[in-house]
Amino acid sequence: MSTSLLYHAFGIRGYRYTRTDYRDGQTIFTIHQEPETCRCPACGSHEVQSRGRVERRFRTLPIGRRATFVVLPIPRVECQACGVVRQVKIPFADPRRSYTNAFERYALELGRRMTIRDVALHMGVSWDVIKDLQKRDLWRRFAKPKLKHLRHIAIDEIAIAKGHRYLTVVLDLDSGAVVFVGDGKGAKALQPFWKRLRGSKAVIEAVAMDMSPAYREAVSTHLPKAQIVFDRFHVMKLFNEKLSDLRRALHREATDVMQKKVLKGTRWLLLKASENLDEEKDEKKKLEEALALNKSLAVAYYLKEDLRQFWEQPGKRFGTSFLDGWIKRAEASGIKMLQQMAKTLAAHRSGLLAYYDARITSGPMEGTNNKIKTMKRLAYGFRDREFFKLKILAIHETKYELVG
Ligand SMILES: [Zn+2]
Repeated sequence: MSTSLLYHAFGIRGYRYTRTDYRDGQTIFTIHQEPETCRCPACGSHEVQSRGRVERRFRTLPIGRRATFVVLPIPRVECQACGVVRQVKIPFADPRRSYTNAFERYALELGRRMTIRDVALHMGVSWDVIKDLQKRDLWRRFAKPKLKHLRHIAIDEIAIAKGHRYLTVVLDLDSGAVVFVGDGKGAKALQPFWKRLRGSKAVIEAVAMDMSPAYREAVSTHLPKAQIVFDRFHVMKLFNEKLSDLRRALHREATDVMQKKVLKGTRWLLLKASENLDEEKDEKKKLEEALALNKSLAVAYYLKEDLRQFWEQPGKRFGTSFLDGWIKRAEASGIKMLQQMAKTLAAHRSGLLAYYDARITSGPMEGTNNKIKTMKRLAYGFRDREFFKLKILAIHETKYELVG
């Protein structure tokens, strides 16, 4: 083994190579640091006296499938200037870890293409070792995103587990990046975000969110000048949930077998945008048949399709008369679900119309949510919550593939 190979293959330089051992399928290089190269790790002084050595073993890059280690008796020195005995610095590894920097870099590189499990298996270490080094790397790069440039943001809660466990996510609507992930939902989850935002001196112009009061009050308090937009994505999501409830209730009440069957088959068709109905699968015909059988479902469905037009108006004035017209029609429909929706929209009227000033929607949040769902399926989320949160912050970093 030449010192040049030690340097080029393992990033180790400035040591004397002592020997190589082959034991139990492992390759072990022993290296040595000469006393004259030792310096005080605190002040850098060469005026030091040797105070023994502490042997350490670091896992480094495998050679093929063979686990490879570097053994170094690390000198301990007493500094004349500091008067303290310390272990000298080692440039090729963090003394708190059991592996070299080269090992860490290689594991991170593989982690961009392989699951944690696969990397751990390939490199002969535990799942936790690989997860922890990924976590530190994510922390360095994503834990504190710059907020200074933020102008338009979206705030949303995401369920991360059954039984009401939530995270609150803040998205930069201009870049699409996740800029904050908080524990829980509601105003409390946002506290650390406000603190960091104040420090950044960012000027937030508009915030997209759903119509629940949870974030609304928090934003009014902390960003009194920002415009609140109850966005299209959430309004339509709420409407679709109510539409599904209506269909379910009608299905429950239906006594006719045929009618029950038709109602069951329209579950997804009702929620689809009408222009996306698949002609080849006869979706349009199927839906029309179902609607012909259920007047209230038909009214609700057409008012849903109609409501989507609210965001397609040429400007705020048209938007206003459209919204007021829609609310009137829903109120007059005699259908409880639509009347409730009309009441909700009327109560949030200015925040809905704010769309025509700010032109934002948390639609991009949907894509982020879907990616988070994929990560949840990969199951590492719950073993380490902080790691999961960092993965969400890195979600738009294409270098970090969504591998487990
Ligand atoms: Zn010193």
